[in-house]
Amino acid sequence: MVPDLADAGEGRSVADALIDRLGEPFAVSGLELGVGAAFGVAVGPDHGDDPVTLLQRADIAMYTAKAHGDGSAQLFSAELVTAGTRRLRLAGEIRTALDEGLLDVHFQPIADLRSGKVVSAEALVRWHHSEHGWVPPPDIVGLAEHLGLLRQLTLFVLRSAVRQCATWRDSDFDVQVSVNLAAQSLIDVGLVSDVQRELRDAGLDPGRLVLEITETQVIRDPDQALQVLRGLSEIGITLAVDDFGTGFSSLSYLTRLPVNEIKIDRSFVANMLSDDTSAKVVRSIVELGKSLGRVVVAEGIEDLVTWDVLAAMGCDRGQGYHLSRPLNAERLTPWLTGRARPLPAPSPAAPVVSRPEDRPPHSSSPSRSTAH
Ligand code: C2E
Ligand code: MG
Ligand code: MG
Repeated sequence: MVPDLADAGEGRSVADALIDRLGEPFAVSGLELGVGAAFGVAVGPDHGDDPVTLLQRADIAMYTAKAHGDGSAQLFSAELVTAGTRRLRLAGEIRTALDEGLLDVHFQPIADLRSGKVVSAEALVRWHHSEHGWVPPPDIVGLAEHLGLLRQLTLFVLRSAVRQCATWRDSDFDVQVSVNLAAQSLIDVGLVSDVQRELRDAGLDPGRLVLEITETQVIRDPDQALQVLRGLSEIGITLAVDDFGTGFSSLSYLTRLPVNEIKIDRSFVANMLSDDTSAKVVRSIVELGKSLGRVVVAEGIEDLVTWDVLAAMGCDRGQGYHLSRPLNAERLTPWLTGRARPLPAPSPAAPVVSRPEDRPPHSSSPSRSTAH
């Protein structure tokens, strides 16, 4: 409690000063420790004139601050009550939505930047609430984490994705499918067997599945995360680091993780034509990724110029509104026609000129040519 404040803004300044002080490392038994904090601020008489109301309102503000992460302070406002009510409504309904199949999965294609061939599609969860409209995916994931429904949500998206990928494969679409993992999934020791079971049930090769993780998830509990990631990698799943560039991991970290792909965060990609620093960040990530032998994917490409600049930089793959927005499978499947099918094999009637060096080594049939 801080008495005699001039106005609500001063209350916020006090909270900011406390956050700064708490952020300074302090020594305990020879260890440097840091503490993160989130503050909710309510000021009388603007936000209430009795202690109970003020505490309730500071509490509401604190939950918003927490949602923004450590190191933030939030002043109470009436809009937070509306947002809080909405959150409560959604929290009450997400379980039913999951049980009754009211959630959906959309897919956004990812293409080779040079050939334009679609090589993969990212599965993104969707929930259209009858009253609140489209619920942003990070809110869905946050609610599921909070309510202990994350495993159920992850399994729902994973199952939809691997089944859809198997259907595409059966129609001769040569694409992988990516699924995002939430922070808590990486500390779930049952994840590897869940993934194996879903792949087996769908009859899908593990090589067709990509799992996307973020840097921050790994930093939270590196040893546990590394164990889960190794388990996934050993069964042949491709791992990608999502939103790369927004976290604070060191480069050496990347070499320790069994990841095959790096996805450059769209905040850099979106600004790279207008902002020199973003362009430099993108270029460095492409060079870093290539030198470490990783596949580099740019997210959030919204126009052809950005697409071409990235291709010229040596970036491998691209994803974004320029290629396609996320679509449901019924709409994406016809779109994929011609963009994700393997090149047709040469027709037997056409004469195939085969040079000796084109033949596979030790080929028993000299008349057979290799198709590329
Ligand atoms: P993400 O994994 O980085 O997914 C890419 C996000 O960027 C998607 O947002 C996509 O719609 C959006 N996007 C793609 N291209 C463009 C573009 O050109 N411009 C702009 N402005 N945006 C573009 P979405 O679907 O809203 O998902 C947001 C985030 O929510 C995802 O970011 C991911 O972190 C999380 N998420 C989505 N679905 C799931 C899920 O099933 N499970 C988990 N754990 N997280 C999910
Ligand atoms: Mg992703
Ligand atoms: Mg991303």
